[in-house]
Amino acid sequence: MRVLAIGAHADDIEMGCGGSLINHRNDGDEIKLLVFTSSAYFDPITKNYREYGTIYDELVEASKVLNASHMCCGFEIHNLILTDSQIRRLQTEILDYKPDLIYCNSVNDSHPDHSAIGKMMRRYSRLCNKILMYKCSWYIGDEPIGINYYNDISSVFEDKTKLIQLYDSAAPNGGMKSWIECIELVNKYYGIMAGCMYAEGFEVLKWANIHM
Ligand SMILES: [Zn+2]
Repeated sequence: MRVLAIGAHADDIEMGCGGSLINHRNDGDEIKLLVFTSSAYFDPITKNYREYGTIYDELVEASKVLNASHMCCGFEIHNLILTDSQIRRLQTEILDYKPDLIYCNSVNDSHPDHSAIGKMMRRYSRLCNKILMYKCSWYIGDEPIGINYYNDISSVFEDKTKLIQLYDSAAPNGGMKSWIECIELVNKYYGIMAGCMYAEGFEVLKWANIHM
């Protein structure tokens, strides 16, 4: 199986579907990570600065752990506004890779970059038979995300936390600990719904079984 995991920012993928990707890796599936923005930013309030070179190195390390290929499209962060070049890039990447399954940000995620990925994916849903949307910021969005698909990640949850911690630049000054705590709560909550210890939850954008 060929799996394409799409994220607006470096680390979205690992938070939203990192455990599922570890399961895919263990099953011998082919995996590609597609990060849409450079993810570089400077926050004038917290003074946090995230440099592209550091982020890219972290993406490379995560790719190695997942035995995945990777691509960073380099669009400007906080500026995914569905331009023609952004939409065409998504189309081109899907047509080139021909995935059997896509994981992507949810259209109902509260972060505008995240929901932009969901909107672009909805436009090109005809290009893949199976598309699952994940949430990686849990603030209130336009619509509550309707989780209706679960992957059991109980046996790989610890590995998922290590994968996320590779992105040290995303939450400097000890902030990574609170991220991990939040993700543990969310994955436990989805686990209760799914009937296991830890699960990742998704909203099905498309699930078509096509007989060739
Ligand atoms: Zn993000």
